[in-house]
Amino acid sequence: MKYISTRGAAPALGFEDVVLTGLASDGGLYVPEHLPHFSHAEIASWAGLPYRELAFNVISPFVAGAIPDEDLKRIIDVSYSTFRHNAIAPLVQTGHNEWILELFQGPTLAFKDFALQFLGHLLDYILAKRQQKVVVLGATSGDTGSAAIEGCRRCENVDIFILHPHQRVSDVQRRQMTTVLEPNVHNIALRGNFDDCQNLVKASFADQSFLPAGRQLVAVNSINWARIMAQIVYYFYAALALGAPHRKISFSVPTGNFGDIFAGYLAQRMGLPIEQLVIATNSNDILHRCIGGNDHTRKPLLHSLSPSMDIMVSSNFERMLFDLYDRDGDQIRQLMEEFKSSGRLTLAAEPLRRAQNLFSSHRLSDEETIAVIREVFESTEYLLDPHTAIGVQAARTTRKDAATPMVCLATAHPAKFPDAVRQAGQVQNPALPHHMQDLFTRDERYQVLDDSLEHLKTFIGKNIRA
Ligand SMILES: *Cc1c(COP(=O)(O)O)cnc(C)c1O
Repeated sequence: MKYISTRGAAPALGFEDVVLTGLASDGGLYVPEHLPHFSHAEIASWAGLPYRELAFNVISPFVAGAIPDEDLKRIIDVSYSTFRHNAIAPLVQTGHNEWILELFQGPTLAFKDFALQFLGHLLDYILAKRQQKVVVLGATSGDTGSAAIEGCRRCENVDIFILHPHQRVSDVQRRQMTTVLEPNVHNIALRGNFDDCQNLVKASFADQSFLPAGRQLVAVNSINWARIMAQIVYYFYAALALGAPHRKISFSVPTGNFGDIFAGYLAQRMGLPIEQLVIATNSNDILHRCIGGNDHTRKPLLHSLSPSMDIMVSSNFERMLFDLYDRDGDQIRQLMEEFKSSGRLTLAAEPLRRAQNLFSSHRLSDEETIAVIREVFESTEYLLDPHTAIGVQAARTTRKDAATPMVCLATAHPAKFPDAVRQAGQVQNPALPHHMQDLFTRDERYQVLDDSLEHLKTFIGKNIRA
């Protein structure tokens, strides 16, 4: 399987190179040249499969021989062995034909574990084979950093450096990162905000000459193709559990960078009968405005109670645009250049019509989010995190057909976002799961650095293992 850039001017890459490459050299994102397709009979034959076996069936056509089947199975097995619940992605019912897909059973309590546990093991496997070592560098405002660190902490061939804005992430989020004490894990608390962190990361990627010979930086943000690929699996898993492919299933997805819902769209194109795909946003609503009124305009960042969805622009939407424009890389390059300079992207009539046929969308304010947490808790005693609550209400608002099961993706455990839960007035302190009960007494290790590229480079240079 070859992977091509959405901007049409970068070399096609094989699977392993795509895992190690972030942005394509033309600024685009990599996507598979052809999407695998599964027949109705084939999907039906997967009913009842355990998560890991299903994952192998869904993922292997994308890997297409680049990794021997036995090795890929082993990578998948270890990646999901850290999940607490033995269903890996259990379903819970919260209403008539309304289900919550709990994607927070992994080590850091957010759905990003699905992709980053897998990516960590995949990286280490590819690097061992190539006798290569890399440096993973990323910036986080919360969930991504801890999931990436958990994914890489046992990787022999990876040193990982994660920047977070000093004193601007929650205590739970910081401790999930800084209490990981393996010698290849480095947390940097930057004296600055999240944008400053991101800018230093970008500048480091642009000039990697500070690294020892033979080392390169690897990005683990959601533009990495392997992350999207791993997320396709749970759409199949949930749909099969609820009767697909003999009936259609709908999904509602709390959306930030468009990685998670893009995986749902791919599942649909691969043959899974999905009726509705709902884009659920907070007040950072560029996607909702785009689908609803062709208004894809960059606006200032708003801080919400669902911080993991606080984005100005959804980076993976470019992958969607590529399909909406019949995979015409030249057009995507023009559109993205125009967007970069003007802050506005207007879809042509046909791509817009297609997007509106594929997706419903809805936006929630913080007040509405809190009201949903309260309402669902009062009727079911089930506690939603604020991101998941947005998905649930978006589903209830946009739902077209009550006879089709609606699956709302639960992207985080409520204990990760105690503020919103407290504001909903139901539970004072949502308890952390058992394996994290001692989080607040564990030792921490992190380095505070000034907002300086030189200081960052020096720190990385000093701490890379030989
Ligand atoms: C990252 C994240 C999201 C947004 O996912 P995207 O793939 O960026 O759309 C939603 N909820 C939580 C809890 C997250 O951590």
